[in-house]
Amino acid sequence: MTNPRFKRILLKLSGEVLMGEGGLAIDPVVTARVAGEIKDAREAGFELCVVVGGGNIFRGLSAAAKGIERATADYMGMLATVMNALAVQNALEQIGVDTRVQSAIPMQSVCEPFIRRRAERHLEKGRVVIFAAGVGSPFFTTDSGAALRAAEMKCDALFKGTSVDGVYDADPKKVATAKRYETVAYSTVLAQDLKVMDASAIALCRDNNIPIVVFNIREAGNLAAVLQGDGVSTIVQ
Ligand code: UDP
Repeated sequence: MTNPRFKRILLKLSGEVLMGEGGLAIDPVVTARVAGEIKDAREAGFELCVVVGGGNIFRGLSAAAKGIERATADYMGMLATVMNALAVQNALEQIGVDTRVQSAIPMQSVCEPFIRRRAERHLEKGRVVIFAAGVGSPFFTTDSGAALRAAEMKCDALFKGTSVDGVYDADPKKVATAKRYETVAYSTVLAQDLKVMDASAIALCRDNNIPIVVFNIREAGNLAAVLQGDGVSTIVQ
């Protein structure tokens, strides 16, 4: 390992990361590729916690706008994250990576409940631990779930895998002169409302000194590269 700054990381994957061109919510080929990235990181010696979102299947806020009660819609969204977690677990197992899924909403026939000390033990044994159902409460997002689990599991950083290669001072799709930050302060992200994660997640990372590394997960080999300190990313710190 050439970058000793991070040993244990939490990888946050939006549900959309599992989608393919064909519009499948969980594309097996895309999911397998993401699993391969996780395997490479594991084999490079990093300890990995993963939090998966559910936006590819169900988003509470959008459903609430169409008339479903917000809390109910959010519980439906949390169930969607469990489906994604099982898909990622399956893809990892198919390439020989030992994993456990822990859900914030207990579902004993499907996966383990979230138990911090047990998760710790899994990591010590070299397993990848996938956390599902966010924080387990409505009116939150899986970004908050990721920040919370990163703090609880004493992760050295939260890696946010997106489809852009970092945080820009303006929308790079609209503003040709937009510049990518190498590093940016939590306070700048919050004050300028830069689209990194929701504000409560950023505040939780700030209060617990957890850097947020924003990088492009769609680029093959990028997770391992960024972990080694080589790839392109923005660090919020
Ligand atoms: N959700 C929730 N509480 C949580 C995490 C998620 O209510 O702690 C619900 C919420 O409705 C959200 C949905 O689950 O819209 C899917 O999660 P998210 O939108 O964070 O997924 P992502 O955008 O990362 O794919």
